[in-house]
Amino acid sequence: MSTCATMNITPIKIGAIDYAVEAWDKVESTREERWGQISEYNHTIQVDTECQDWQIVETIAHEIGHAICTRCDLEVSEHVISTVSASVAALLRDNPQLVEWIMSISDKGQS
Ligand SMILES: [Zn+2]
Repeated sequence: MSTCATMNITPIKIGAIDYAVEAWDKVESTREERWGQISEYNHTIQVDTECQDWQIVETIAHEIGHAICTRCDLEVSEHVISTVSASVAALLRDNPQLVEWIMSISDKGQS
């Protein structure tokens, strides 16, 4: 299991906005029956950090999907965002060499 402190991923930059990633209170996330939520007002992504690590990755990818759609003024169904975020999380999990290659490019300052 991860915590927001050990994830060391804050802020996540999406367009011109920096989003803080915060642990979401387990009681509240359970009541809402969701693992995450995003606030465009506070620029925060809250995530249930008591679930499995890859569920956290998928949840953050999901909330990023919402932010991108908001930034791009796209109306996309919850189903599409869920499908794409699950696919991105699986892609990253199943292709660590791809993540390493992307990080090597980033380390060189290339875009
Ligand atoms: Zn959603």
